Amino acid sequence: MAQTPSPSDAAQEFFDEGQLVGVWTTQPLGRMLDYKAPEGGCWLGAFVEVPLGPRKVMGVVWGPGKGDYDYAKIRKVIRCLDVPAMRAELREFLEKAGAYTLTDMESMLRLGVRAPGLGDPPSMRKIYRKGDTEPDRMTEARGRVLDALEEYGDLSFTLKELSEAAGVTSSVVKGLVKLGAVREEDTPRDLPFARLDPELPSKDLAQDQAQAADILKAGVASGAYATTLLRGVTGSGKTEVYLEAVAECLRKGRQALVLLPEIALTAEFLTRVQARFGAKPAEWHSGVTMTERRRAWKMVGQGGAQLVVGARSALFLPFRDLGLIVVDEEHDTSYKQEDGVLYNARDMTVLRASICSAQVILASATPSLESWANAEAGKYTRLDLTSRFGDAVMPDMRAIDMRDVKLPSNRWISPQLQAEVEARVASGEQALLFINRRGYAPVTICRACGHQIGCDHCDARMVEHRFQKRLVCHQCGESKPIPEICPSCEAEDRLAAVGPGVERLGEEAAELFPGARIATLSSDMYGSARALKAEIEGIAAGAADIIIGTQLVAKGHNFPLLTLVGVIDADLGLQGSDLRAAERTFQLMRQVAGRAGRSSKRGTALMQTYQPEHPVIRAILAGDENSFWTAEAAERRAASVPPYGRMAGIILSSPDVQDVFDLGAELARRDGPLREIGAQVFGPAPAPIARVRGRHRVRLLVKADKNVPLQRALAKWIRQVRVPSQVRLSVDIDPQSFY
Ligand code: ADP
Ligand code: ZN
Repeated sequence: MAQTPSPSDAAQEFFDEGQLVGVWTTQPLGRMLDYKAPEGGCWLGAFVEVPLGPRKVMGVVWGPGKGDYDYAKIRKVIRCLDVPAMRAELREFLEKAGAYTLTDMESMLRLGVRAPGLGDPPSMRKIYRKGDTEPDRMTEARGRVLDALEEYGDLSFTLKELSEAAGVTSSVVKGLVKLGAVREEDTPRDLPFARLDPELPSKDLAQDQAQAADILKAGVASGAYATTLLRGVTGSGKTEVYLEAVAECLRKGRQALVLLPEIALTAEFLTRVQARFGAKPAEWHSGVTMTERRRAWKMVGQGGAQLVVGARSALFLPFRDLGLIVVDEEHDTSYKQEDGVLYNARDMTVLRASICSAQVILASATPSLESWANAEAGKYTRLDLTSRFGDAVMPDMRAIDMRDVKLPSNRWISPQLQAEVEARVASGEQALLFINRRGYAPVTICRACGHQIGCDHCDARMVEHRFQKRLVCHQCGESKPIPEICPSCEAEDRLAAVGPGVERLGEEAAELFPGARIATLSSDMYGSARALKAEIEGIAAGAADIIIGTQLVAKGHNFPLLTLVGVIDADLGLQGSDLRAAERTFQLMRQVAGRAGRSSKRGTALMQTYQPEHPVIRAILAGDENSFWTAEAAERRAASVPPYGRMAGIILSSPDVQDVFDLGAELARRDGPLREIGAQVFGPAPAPIARVRGRHRVRLLVKADKNVPLQRALAKWIRQVRVPSQVRLSVDIDPQSFY
């Protein structure tokens, strides 16, 4: 009979065969499970495969087993995966991030093991690249394969990936291999990324840039944690400056991570890295092939990737020695993940860096009020770049008072804006017309009975997308053909589109500027991120005279020929009662305006508004950021809302409306644990969108003072109630959206 090994101490790093280990799996079981260490033993943090009932699942060895179960019945770890054990730093990060966001460990662990084919044995495999010869006979399918290879540059493909990317069968690819037009190579899986050389020459920095870079470099060299807010108008050279901090980090032999919003669309950044360091970094985002993702995950852990450029989920990669994290456009709302685990990547960046003694750089032209307040309070260092680099100056910003403008219905471009656009087109410059609304028209109404077409599953109106010839629900994504008769009164040909969307604005522009080349940019109008990226690059090179776009165009793209930005509806974001409406409008308008005049020619930004006296609109036009932030901060402080107070949103949803109200009322009644910390609960109230995908939604809002143990109180509060099985309860700490 086997003998129970003696309980091991918590600091134990290696477990011999048969010793009990505690394993967190990726399955939602709510607790760690005990297993016996496999033959050959295993390390603390080892990625393992374990039996669970009849299945095999993945897990991570988190510590010694509890030993509260009959040893003889405990099963053995099947095998350790061929990857380095998860480091203590990452385990601690997952635990703390889970505690902060009130997320179970299993869900946190899933964020940390998001690598395709992690359990595969290492082996050789065949990859495909562009060959040296052109096929003598070109077919349409062959052309698509070569285009796909061209489009992805020097990234490699497996046979399956290449044929899928090109939309051809694998025999087409094999045919091209025979002809020498595609090269087939045997490679070990997962090669290291090319070395980046920090000693290659950098650009000559201007004086304020050099000063900022020196401070950031000293921070990296210290090897300790600190956060710096790098503020600077669009085009002031923030990227050049933080690349010098990256260089310093590489010199120290530590790894760096740069997070970008909409990374799948920004090839420009990769080119700049290559120019500075002689090679491209590892990429981690949805636009990268599975093979490359797996390679990035593994190489990050083995030190074969010095720099990763990625989307927010790159924060959960198993870095070997992370020394610097840059969050570019740190105010961007896409850093908040709004489904699954609700986390804000900016805040989690600060957490991870503090655990692994790394530096954080938050870069933005229009920082979030949270970061601004942290800088004011001295928690973050603040560096300001106040002028645009070289001759570029900030655009001239003016309002167009729409109260004085008489436009026919179905027209949104004022004569003044029209004249300005015409002038740019005539002189070979570009103009951007901005409207932050996808689709053709936000409302479809019946002129006979007044019925507005809504979604069958949500309390939301369907948005016409003429390009796709469908009505689309922006809540659940459901779509249907545009009907010819009114679904309510059955009148024929009386349905009318009301209000503008980006597609409709494109139509208006085509009528107003018949000679101009017009490009409409909206995320839903392109089949893939790659296609959209190619379109953006074409436009930057001058392939269009007028760009019509949603907020997609506000993010980091550099259009050197662009000298005019026209905002169709500057008031749009100010409607509604969102806590951050003013902040978001200010940021978005400044960001969009910043697209104009990035090279030597001064740009102009014109904002059509019905309320030119609104304090936010006035602040945008004045460009006086400090007074805007100071005023906004004073209002939030007076109302004790973030960043001067804390909030948590509770969202209950269920197919049964009674369920959610009953549970909501019970939570509101049993608020003892919240009152203990002086927190208040508001609600339950129907959510602004009271039904999504057939589920009724109710919200509660918890408000607390800044320095109370909110998460602990929330957990205790929620534990009191039993959540019926069809009800979903999710907690959103520091909510950004309140829909
Ligand atoms: P930001 O990130 O603040 O928007 P960038 O770093 O993108 O600014 O700089 C704007 C443009 O100016 C880029 O094309 C960049 O290469 C150029 N630039 C900035 N600083 C310098 C410099 N010191 N020398 C040469 N070009 C520079
Ligand atoms: Zn819907």
